[in-house]
Parts: sequence; structure tokens; C-alpha cells
Amino acid sequence: MKQWMKKLVEQFDMDWGTTSQDSARSNETPSLTEDRATLLYILDIYNKHLFEIQNHSVRKVRAKLDAFAKELVQKDTEATEKTLFRLRQFISSYRIDEYTFVQNTFDDFKRIIWDFADHLSEEAQVEDAAQGDINQSLEQLREAVESNSIDELRAKSREFINFYLKHQSSKNERRSKRMESIKKNLTTVKKQLMEANQTMRRDHLTGAHNRRSYDEQVRRYLQLHEIDKDPMTLILLDIDFFKKINDAYGHDIGDFVLQECVRLLQESFSREEDFIARLGGEEFAVILPGCNVEAAIKMAEEAMQRIRKEVFVHEKFEIRFTVSLGIAEISPNEGADSWYKRADEALYESKQTGRNKYTLAKSSQIKRVA
Ligand code: GH3
Ligand code: MG
Ligand code: MG
Repeated sequence: MKQWMKKLVEQFDMDWGTTSQDSARSNETPSLTEDRATLLYILDIYNKHLFEIQNHSVRKVRAKLDAFAKELVQKDTEATEKTLFRLRQFISSYRIDEYTFVQNTFDDFKRIIWDFADHLSEEAQVEDAAQGDINQSLEQLREAVESNSIDELRAKSREFINFYLKHQSSKNERRSKRMESIKKNLTTVKKQLMEANQTMRRDHLTGAHNRRSYDEQVRRYLQLHEIDKDPMTLILLDIDFFKKINDAYGHDIGDFVLQECVRLLQESFSREEDFIARLGGEEFAVILPGCNVEAAIKMAEEAMQRIRKEVFVHEKFEIRFTVSLGIAEISPNEGADSWYKRADEALYESKQTGRNKYTLAKSSQIKRVA
């Protein structure tokens, strides 16, 4: 099997063997055709970019897509046909709900912007009408000047000034009312934007940043790094034997452990610029700007220690867990993908050589451009 396909199958974090004919081979990854692997790849991408929408929790959709993926690796052609049919049905109904959700959110924004435009056009109309009155009043004043009657001039002047003052004060009143209503609308928009931003960028279960947010933040930090050249280190972290926790205590306890893991990471990497993201399953990334590898190791050791010491009591069980890490300091002129890849390979090394440890990444091959 091609390397990318093997890696992909492993990424699905599944016990493929449960539907395998041969339970003795239950931990082997199944062989795959390239077509099916491509489909799995698409499902995987979909999985990574899900967001919370009404009636479709990310968790449920993910479980469903995982189940489809699992069915798709089976060799039975007839069964595959059926799976593909159900997958098409599922995706199309999910897309409709996704579209409706986005549409509704947009409708709210459109309504607010519409209100705002309405206000402005009302104001313009009132201004137009007032301008007509002012012109008329000015015309009367001009006539009074031409009439040479001092009494008339005095009366018309007073009339004009009164009219003008009244117009100004009602204009101010209208303006302040309008400003108040705009302010109210803007507050609503701001709140909605913040909420939307939050759900788009946060992992629903743990509250950590999600993969999308990680991608954006890496780009931002790398741009800054271009300028200040400060050291910066990436830690990739994966919970050891997490599947066993799920299997032994159930998915809900597994979820709880994920939340606790994020809490402990937040305590360990608590500087304002430290960035913690859940990249998927039980894998996390921590970006440490301003930290060289030595400083990152110190923080990582403290975090590992904190996690090792924590005991979660559930009924009569005491749950403990450990984590494996890959640590990579950014190299000069290195891009996000290479940086991640080096940290990921180091994490893999930690897993292969006993877990509950960290491994430093190999240095980058990129040479500094003179
Ligand atoms: P390793 O030490 O090699 O990392 O082993 P592991 O068991 O931690 O890793 P593996 O990849 O075999 O299993 C990860 C499990 O994580 C499988 C998957 O069902 C589970 N998982 C993924 N996302 C979630 C989630 O949101 N909640 C829960 N409870 N489990 C999840
Ligand atoms: Mg794991
Ligand atoms: Mg994992």
C-alpha cells in the first residue's frame, strides 16, 4: 500500500478489525484501492473542517463519517454500492442543513444592514424636505430685503432664525436617535460576529483552538517571525493509549479526559502568546513564540509532569494518562508544513520508542538564504 494511503488509514483512529473477518488480525490496517483511499481522504478533510450546526453535532457527524469510512474499506462490492448510496444521501442532506444554517446566519446580518440603510435613506429624505423649507424661508428673507421695509425685514429675519434653530435642534435630535439605534445594531452585529468567530475557530468539546485556527495562527506567527527572527517552538502532543480509556470507561469519560488535558495544557502554557489547539482526535499542538528549544523543553517537562500526576476518579477507578511529544524549533526560512512535519516525525518517534516522553525534531534541511 502506498505510504500516503497507509498514513491516511492510520489517521482515521479506528479499530479496523472490528468488522474484519479475522479477529486475530484485528489491528492490521486494511489494504485499499487508490479510489477508495481518495474517498477516505475526502471524508477525512470533511471531518477536519466540520463545524457545529443545528441538529448536527460535530461529534455525531464525525462518528457517522468514520462509520462510512470503515464500511468503505470492506471489499464486498455490493455492500460498497449500498454504502456509497447512503453516503451520497447523508452528504446531500447534511449539505442542505449546512447551507440553511449559513443562510440563516447571513439573513440576520442582511436584516441589520438593511435596517441601517433604511435609516440613512429616511434621514436623506427628511434632509431633502428640510432643505426645501430652508430655501423657501431664504427666499422670503430675500424678498423682505428687497421690499425695503425695516419691519418686514425684522419680522422675516426673526422667522428665519427661529425656523433655522428649530430645524437644527430637530436635526440634532434625529441624529442622536439615529446614532443610538445604529450603535445598538452595531453591538448586535459585533456580538454575532464574535460568536460566529468563536464557533468557527474553537473546538466544540474542549474549547481549545481548532485546526482551522491553528493554520491561521501559524501563518500569523510565521509572518511575525520573518520580522523579529525571535525563536519559536512547536510542540505536538498525543495522548497515550487513549483508545484504551474509551474502551475501558466509555466515550463520555474519554471526552472528559480530553477536556481535562486541555485544562492542564492551559495551566502549563499560560503565557498570553502561547497557543493551544486540538488538531483532531487526541492530538494537540502548542505554539510557543519567543521560546527556543531549551525553554520549550522546560515547559514541556512541566506539562508532562502535571499530566502524569493528575488522577481522575470515576466510580471505583482511578484514571491516569500520559502523553507523548514531538518538539521542533522553527528553522530559518522554514514554512508551516515542514515545521509541522518535523514535529510530527518527532512525535512518531516518541510513540515508537516507549511513549510518555518527548523527542526533539531533526533539524531542518533548509539552508539560510544569504
Ligand atoms: P497511541 O498511544 O498510539 O496514541 O494510541 P491511542 O490509543 O491514543 O491512539 P489511537 O489512534 O489508536 O486511538 C485514538 C482514539 O481516540 C480513537 C478514537 O475513537 C478516539 N477519539 C477521537 N476523537 C475522540 C473524541 O472526540 N472523544 C473521544 N472520547 N474519543 C475520541
Ligand atoms: Mg494517542
Ligand atoms: Mg492520535
